[in-house]
Amino acid sequence: MRNLTREEIFALSDRYLMRTYGRAPVAPVRGAGARLWDADGKEYLDFAAGVAVCSVGHCHPRVVEAIRQQAARLIHCSNLYYIEQQARLAALLAEHSGLGRVFFCNSGAEAVEGAIKLARKWAKIHKGRGSYEIITAFNSFHGRTLACITATGQLKYQKGFEPLPQGFGYVPFNDLAALEDAVNEHTCAVMLEPVQGEGGVNVADGDYLRGVRELCDRAGLLLIFDEVQCGLGRTGHLFAHEHYGVKPDIMTLAKALGGGFPIGALLAREEVAQAFGPGDHASTFGGSPLACAAGLAAVETILEENLPANAARVGAYLLERLRELASRYAFVKEVRGLGLMVGIELTQPGDPFVERCRDKGLLVNCVSGNVLRLVPPLTITRQEVDEAVNVLERVFEEEASKEGEGQP
Ligand code: PLP
Repeated sequence: MRNLTREEIFALSDRYLMRTYGRAPVAPVRGAGARLWDADGKEYLDFAAGVAVCSVGHCHPRVVEAIRQQAARLIHCSNLYYIEQQARLAALLAEHSGLGRVFFCNSGAEAVEGAIKLARKWAKIHKGRGSYEIITAFNSFHGRTLACITATGQLKYQKGFEPLPQGFGYVPFNDLAALEDAVNEHTCAVMLEPVQGEGGVNVADGDYLRGVRELCDRAGLLLIFDEVQCGLGRTGHLFAHEHYGVKPDIMTLAKALGGGFPIGALLAREEVAQAFGPGDHASTFGGSPLACAAGLAAVETILEENLPANAARVGAYLLERLRELASRYAFVKEVRGLGLMVGIELTQPGDPFVERCRDKGLLVNCVSGNVLRLVPPLTITRQEVDEAVNVLERVFEEEASKEGEGQP
């Protein structure tokens, strides 16, 4: 079978796929480390990394080999039976998180959906029938199922899909007093991203997260951390909540968990996990031998190559270089982030910047309309950071000279 040209790929996609994505005119066909190659051979430095998925880099040899070997042995096995790779990955995640039990699914949204169900079930048992509400933050993002868009504190994801499920409340992020006010007799849990991703790369304050934990303990609420994007080394610790010394009762993971292969996980401490009994939750494909083999390879790589430490080190360098760059351009409002989860907030729409970076061989994306998000593989080097910052500098320079035109 011959490979399609990029124009053929665009035409076929535009003709047959549902129009749920605004796609950039790039058709990557090969990847290695932080590099991607398009169908027409153009090379890109990938600072989007599958949106924080390819943390070990594209096609890490260990992940590729694990998938190759497992695919030849056993691809799928029902959860009616015991699955070796699933047990091993659960043990690895439980040991490193200190959360006692794991449920595997296929995506971030499914992990969040599972967290919502587990919190409600736990509350029914421990707090009574009237306790079901989950409070989340404005500008959060928790996925695209009906419950997840309702948990997401952003109207734009909910509009058009009403009626939405009941049982969610919203508060401003980093505002403890607002959360205290919002807790009521129906509340059973608080769900937060320690670093909001899609909402604009917003980092939680230490006092805030510690205060949220205390409030949950005082009011008998579960604390759920959605670490689908910020977890697994991205922020410079294996889990973002480690920066704060605050432990959740439930945590969701996905994205980087499979090194590019789809897998999600829901973790909970033993006493909370006990609320789920046989038949309460399930997934046909969740925790398949193939997905868990990929997951084991990815998580072992993150641990053995000490990628959280690289994320901390190179992330600090990236922030430093970007802050220096930002100080020269009035249209850059703020550079913020933690580890290799970085946002550049602009005073104007970000999409034209994304396009110009892409033309120059750098992939980044834009969230919240005006925040350029940089989430490169955790294997990224200082040289690759320099390369990316040089592209951004050229793009900013072009913008500045464009804005300067016509001025006296
Ligand atoms: N939760 C967070 C924090 C996310 O960033 C995302 C995706 O961006 C999700 C949940 C949903 O994950 P998925 O797209 O795998 O369903």
